[in-house]
Amino acid sequence: MLNIDLHCHSNVSDGMLSPAEVVARAAANGVHVLALTDHDDVAGLDAARVAADAAGVTLIPGVEISVSWRGQTLHIVGLRIDSSHPELAAGLAGIRAGRIERGRRMGDDLAKSGIPGAYEGAYDCAVNKQMVGRTHFARWLVAQGHAPDIRSAFRRFLTRGNPGYVEHEWTSLESAVNWIRASGGMAVIAHPGRYAFNARDLHLLLDAFRAFGGEGIEVITGSHHPSEYGKFADLARAFGLKASRGTDFHAPAEGVDIGRLPALPHYCRPVWQGWPELAPHFSLSPA
Ligand code: AMP
Ligand code: MN
Ligand code: MN
Ligand code: MN
Repeated sequence: MLNIDLHCHSNVSDGMLSPAEVVARAAANGVHVLALTDHDDVAGLDAARVAADAAGVTLIPGVEISVSWRGQTLHIVGLRIDSSHPELAAGLAGIRAGRIERGRRMGDDLAKSGIPGAYEGAYDCAVNKQMVGRTHFARWLVAQGHAPDIRSAFRRFLTRGNPGYVEHEWTSLESAVNWIRASGGMAVIAHPGRYAFNARDLHLLLDAFRAFGGEGIEVITGSHHPSEYGKFADLARAFGLKASRGTDFHAPAEGVDIGRLPALPHYCRPVWQGWPELAPHFSLSPA
């Protein structure tokens, strides 16, 4: 079986490893096909490509776009994107500009709760200064002793109703799907089990996403409990969406390791069906 992991992060966004280190770890874990999907930035793809060619890993250029839809934040993964496409590049640059302004507001909010200097601290924790996110704030809060670990930092701070959480308007679902499609890519709903939607809103989302030209949904992800796999496999089938598999790997000590998840249920139609990049892995060795 091919090991295909279509969701992971490098330090170009909120991962801990460089793009080349992510690829090396994927190769060591037996991953054949890897998509690097940093939040709102594609700056790691060139280095990942060089490392993937050297390691014999098939790299799929990807991105994970932050979206606001009906008052909630969603993540839309773009796969097989052209990272140099001007419409996609401009859209992502706009989101990153919004992150800087949001980061300052998060810092102000934490300062009001007696924790000054958080934006500067998070900024120092980020390798890519355009991509400061909540994970960088969480790492700084842990380093300063305000929380014992990342998970607690998110529980006490940075989440709705807690210090450091500010509302933010990301891009629209329609724009994210359009940018991905304009660049030749496929749009996939990331970790659907993480959103606090009731069944009606979830169905509305799947219908809207399909109508905008979205094609896939993550079924097997590090964010889903195994008991959720069947539900999202069934929803994919019911809504005519292809199924994806990705760990959402961020760092060696956080969450699921690259490539370490079960296969898609057999009745799923995989997002990678028909991708020419996979052909080398299927060629038979000469008899
Ligand atoms: P941002 O895009 O800046 O809002 O940050 C979102 C990122 O924060 C996600 O991609 C995760 O990496 C991380 N994250 C969100 N919620 C949690 C949580 N409860 N525990 C650990 N990491 C989280
Ligand atoms: Mn993240
Ligand atoms: Mn995500
Ligand atoms: Mn992710």
